[in-house]
Amino acid sequence: MCYAIPGNVKSIANNLITIDYFGEERKARNDFYNLRVGDYVYAQGGFVVQKIDEKDAEEILDTWKELFFELKETDVRLSKLYNDKPNLDKNFLKIIDRATYGKSISRQEALRLLLSEDPDETDVLHKSANFIRQKFLGNACCVHGIIEFSNICNCLCTYCGINSANTSLKRFSLDHKEILDVVADAVKRFGFKGIVLQSGEDPSHKSEDIIDLVKKIRENSPVFIFLSIGEREEAFYQRAFDAGARAVLFRFETSDQNLYSKLHPHSSLRERIRYLELFKDIGYIIATGSLIGLPGQKAESVINDFMFAKDLGCDMYSFGTFIPHPDTPLSSHDAPNTEYVLKALSVLRLIDPYGKILVTTALESQNPQARRLALMGGANSIMLNLTPKDYVGLYDIYPHRATVDVSVEYQIEDALQLLKSIGRAPTDLGI
Ligand code: SAM
Repeated sequence: MCYAIPGNVKSIANNLITIDYFGEERKARNDFYNLRVGDYVYAQGGFVVQKIDEKDAEEILDTWKELFFELKETDVRLSKLYNDKPNLDKNFLKIIDRATYGKSISRQEALRLLLSEDPDETDVLHKSANFIRQKFLGNACCVHGIIEFSNICNCLCTYCGINSANTSLKRFSLDHKEILDVVADAVKRFGFKGIVLQSGEDPSHKSEDIIDLVKKIRENSPVFIFLSIGEREEAFYQRAFDAGARAVLFRFETSDQNLYSKLHPHSSLRERIRYLELFKDIGYIIATGSLIGLPGQKAESVINDFMFAKDLGCDMYSFGTFIPHPDTPLSSHDAPNTEYVLKALSVLRLIDPYGKILVTTALESQNPQARRLALMGGANSIMLNLTPKDYVGLYDIYPHRATVDVSVEYQIEDALQLLKSIGRAPTDLGI
């Protein structure tokens, strides 16, 4: 099993290298290895994450070669754009038409698409988003693994089941040896090339220890490391980057100032955004987004969130469905319907033809078909859950999370079958 295709180094300019994948060239940044032209590497998220032996690389490439082109063909076939719906509104078609050329669409136009209740328009929107994804990004689909290592949290987010006011939840926190074992298994046994380390804002994991953890992961199991551990002292993030972390998954949750204050009695939107700017300055890859369907959130607000994330220079969009948790102040509210969230993700693809769009577990938890529908509607990234089975149910941010009751092996098999059927390669070829 493999979540990246080895690439051959074609040229090197300082720490920027050009990598060849079966004739396709991509750039990647090399921060960790002494490389020469002709070496083989794995890249992820635009960074070289591992240098590999030539013989191993050639063996892996041999198994990939045919499949690589077969998948591409399937994807091109399934993402062809044709309009079999006569009588669609001219304004609607004008927006779609421009977007398919990669031209930016305005806030008003995006809103027009999101508010449409015409099933024919929605169908064309999804197909156009899929076409745009294929045209500008090809058939690569990132498959990262997430390890939720602690549900202890100092925060009071009113939507979140692990917020510190929920006294009915049993808390857990993995120690670093346990985390290292899960990562080693994920990388060496299952072949993951990108790992998200996520937790509540848990002070028992000292900054110093997390930095040490990042260093040990880089030494023992080379992988692209995302941190998703919330707000810490600023210096920590620079030191974690120096230790080898290269991405953060950190949502701003909503860009609406009033809504943010209502939902987060312990923190401010300004502070949240300041962190995202800091991450960008340090050089992290940014995965961010908000919750769709929050009580009191209007469609305008969702579009503002998309535009806001794009303006931040977001690399991977993580827009999840709000799912009410029974032990939170928002327990009596409803989740948005799946169709609305799928439509929103397609609009997002029209707003940014080049960004990665994650299918979140929250969306997958709403509907077993949601992953496929989202991937066929503009998304191109998924996450599998690697949290050990004794703890995964306790990471109870919202109820009935998909993947809580299934093994890693099952998740991999299921994801690969789906990706194969729609012509996507479980790879991240980078930039
Ligand atoms: N502490 C980290 C942080 O601050 O980014 C990450 C942990 S936090 C639990 C991870 C994500 O869970 C949040 O960004 C939030 O959007 C999501 N989440 C929390 N409660 C949720 C709910 N009820 N429905 C859907 N997503 C939820």
